[in-house]
Amino acid sequence: MSFVFPLTTPSVAIVGESARFPVRRIFCVGRNYAAHAREMGKDPDKEPPFFFTKPADAVVESGATIPYPPETKNLHYEMELVLAIGREGTNIEPERAFDYIWGYCCGIDLTRRDLQGQAKDMGRPWDWGKAFDQSAPVSAIHNASEVGRLDKGRIWLAVNGKVKQDSDLSLMIWPIADIIAFLSRSMKIMPGDLVMTGTPEGVGPVVPGDRITGGIDRLGEIAVNIGAAEAGRIGIAAE
Ligand code: MN
Repeated sequence: MSFVFPLTTPSVAIVGESARFPVRRIFCVGRNYAAHAREMGKDPDKEPPFFFTKPADAVVESGATIPYPPETKNLHYEMELVLAIGREGTNIEPERAFDYIWGYCCGIDLTRRDLQGQAKDMGRPWDWGKAFDQSAPVSAIHNASEVGRLDKGRIWLAVNGKVKQDSDLSLMIWPIADIIAFLSRSMKIMPGDLVMTGTPEGVGPVVPGDRITGGIDRLGEIAVNIGAAEAGRIGIAAE
């Protein structure tokens, strides 16, 4: 018996345009601010960046209510600058990296911290901690020609109006240009790829009913609500 199903391409809104940015892959930098590396118990020495991925359809529009995900008791926010890649490239020199960035947006790398911790302890992949459904809320993309090079500027996140993360893009261990250079040595970057560039210190848990807001200078803000777990799915937040 044959079977055909509709497959839609995940996409992200673009500021000031009705066209949308189709998402091909989501790459994430593992550790890119020294103070966050320290709060996670790691030495922030400048070792080469490492990457993990989320599926393209993990993207969620800003403004959404995201159900508390299953199998965790410790859902964390991580506010991040997101790069939207617009050109194919390999072995890109840092000096040319900005030629490949179509635009920028705000993103939150939602993390099941308990599952990530178990994976680290057991030497297993991070996917179950990082790459779950609706784990990548993003705001509308600003074209790079309108905002310039996002290599500095305030990045912040608040839960229920209380600021939890407050840093500056200039404090990245590996700046944007170096991230593109490293990534394009291992992977051919392609139009539609998103790159989440790591989070500053101040990560922490959210529970159902919480509202997360965040912003980056020149990129506006992102907001998501954490809803109740879906019926029949284990997803009980710690009190
Ligand atoms: Mn992250």
